[in-house]
Amino acid sequence: MYNLLNFDKYLFEKNQIKKNKIGKIIIIFGPPGSGKGTLSKKISKETGILHVSTGNLLRSSKEPKIQQLMSSGKLVPDKYIIKEIKKIFKNKDLSKGIIIDGFPRTISQSKKLDSMLGKMGLGLSYSIYLKIEKDEAIKRILKRDEGRKDDESKEIIEERFKEYNIKTLPLVEYYNKSRKTIILNGMESIEKNYKKIIKKLL
Ligand code: ADP
Repeated sequence: MYNLLNFDKYLFEKNQIKKNKIGKIIIIFGPPGSGKGTLSKKISKETGILHVSTGNLLRSSKEPKIQQLMSSGKLVPDKYIIKEIKKIFKNKDLSKGIIIDGFPRTISQSKKLDSMLGKMGLGLSYSIYLKIEKDEAIKRILKRDEGRKDDESKEIIEERFKEYNIKTLPLVEYYNKSRKTIILNGMESIEKNYKKIIKKLL
């Protein structure tokens, strides 16, 4: 009996330690070209929060199926992303927190994230929705030069917006109902949006 109680205490403490080691868990979503990556990088640089871009992770994958889907503007199947996200939670130092840029991108991914975090005794701290008009976003994509194949043609950019509207946009309502969603205007300067976020996070 005594040992069992002690074992419970041990498990509890073990989980507490793990929890304390993880800072705020933040996700950021918005249409292609909304500035998710730029804003996340700034947050990470200023605060030490780890920035993870699922787009970047996938771009470095050697899996032909992933490359083919990405270069046609389609989302890649959940299993590839979930695997990467799990690896990050397992291996990276998240003591200062994590900002996940580009995931979840569908309601199904959001449920998978909740379930994964739930199993670790964790939960999402904030979701950030970066809102922007499509015309402005397209102008930005066409101007930037990151050597991305999926930025090269108007057809592929259109396909990304189609995917976004059908699969990602429903997340806005989904998160707004139940979570702390910070809605930002993507037309504002990075500096202004950064300040707004910091006020909420501190
Ligand atoms: P953007 O949002 O500007 O299109 P990203 O770098 O976030 O750029 O994503 C690029 C591509 O990576 C997407 O079009 C998609 O093919 C793939 N991708 C990134 N994150 C996910 C995700 N969570 N689920 C499915 N596909 C993803």
